Order: sequence, then structure tokens, then C-alpha cells
Amino acid sequence: MSKHTGYYELRDALQEPGCAICRLGKKVVTHYLDGLIYANANDYQVRAEVKLARGFCNLHAWQLRDCHGAGLDMAILSADVLVEWLQALQGFTPQAPPPNLFQRLRIALGLGGGQPDAITLAETLAPQRPCLACQTRDEAESASIHELLIHLEDPEVQAGFVQSGGLCLAHFRQTLKLVTQPAQVAAVVRRQETALLPLLEQLREFIRKHDYRFQDEMTAADGAAWIRALEAVSGRRGTR
Ligand SMILES: [Zn+2]
Ligand SMILES: [Zn+2]
Repeated sequence: MSKHTGYYELRDALQEPGCAICRLGKKVVTHYLDGLIYANANDYQVRAEVKLARGFCNLHAWQLRDCHGAGLDMAILSADVLVEWLQALQGFTPQAPPPNLFQRLRIALGLGGGQPDAITLAETLAPQRPCLACQTRDEAESASIHELLIHLEDPEVQAGFVQSGGLCLAHFRQTLKLVTQPAQVAAVVRRQETALLPLLEQLREFIRKHDYRFQDEMTAADGAAWIRALEAVSGRRGTR
């Protein structure tokens, strides 16, 4: 199997602790957002897409906030969304007909959703496409998972997978959905199992040593276990 950039990036990501797919996705998003600020934010197509997405998701909007020199670009992109939003407000005409019995009941029960005009406005303002950075991340993660599956038997990938602690739960599930051969399923499941066992062991040690009688036995590795477990269960910080 020929090896190219994707392989080497995966191999390097597997040298670090924690889910390699989370790590690669985050790296691609950082690169993408930097590029957006330095080159593309004013591009007509980008502006149109951002407007359709109603800006960026919370995570990526604030990541952009921290990009050096993002102020002007973000002001332009946000202004586009605000214009659209205001146009929807200005074009809004309240609908007179009283709600039907079902709607009145919903209102009486405090459930909301009884005003069709309000629902229509809410739908008009809803994102019409995913956040651009989320989409970039999702595509990069899928590409990295394909790379992982192609090189599953590569010794460095194999060793790195286990040593890094395997994948986070979301990316493990995504990997299962992307396998194409029966042998890949068994390999992925067994390696994830091998990667998780020591983490659970260490987590149990961390919990046990919280008893005052064993506190002196606590090691730095035990102390780091709960963060590693958090990442395994919920994914790497700041990825979604
Ligand atoms: Zn992950
Ligand atoms: Zn996003």
C-alpha cells in the first residue's frame, strides 16, 4: 500500500496520547480557520455559505475570535447574517387567525409552538447548511478514518493505536460504520479493547487511591487517568 501525506499525518497523530482522529480533525479546522482569515473570508462564495449557515457554530465562532486579525472579516461575515436576520424581522407579518383548539391547548400547557407565524419565522432563521468549519472537520475526520482502515496492519499504526489509548467513543463508532472488510472489524474491536483495558485499570487505581489510606500511592499517571478517560468518552477538548 503506497504511503502519502495522510498516512504520515495519521502515524504522527498516533504517537500522541488520546484519540488521533479528534487530534487530526482539530488540526485541519485550525488550519482552515487561519486560511479563512488570511485569504478567503471576503470571497463571495464563502460569504454566501456563511450566511446560509447563519454564521459559525459556537465553538468555531469563538475559535475565530481568537485568530489574530479576525476582526474585520468576522465583522463582514456577521453583518451579512444580521442583514438577513433583520430582513426576516422586517418582512414578518403577524397572522391574525386565532389558533385552533390543539394550539390553544399547547399554549395553555405552556408547551409553545402554538403560533404558526412564530414557527415559520424560527424556521426561516434556522441554519440552511452546516457550519463551514464543522463540515471541514467532519470531512477530515472521515478521510483520517479511511486512512486508518487502509493502514490497519501497518506495524507503526498498529502500535500507535494501542499506545495512544485508541479512539474516542464517537470516532470508534464512526470507524465501525466505515469498515469495508470483515477482518477490519475484528482488528478494530480487538485493538480498541487492548487500548481501553489499561485506561480502565488506571482509572480504578485513581478512584481507589482517593481513599485516605492509599493516598500516598497516587502516581502522576493515576492522576492523569480521569482526563484521559474523559477524552475517551466525550472526545478531545474543543473539537465539537
Ligand atoms: Zn475522537
Ligand atoms: Zn462549527
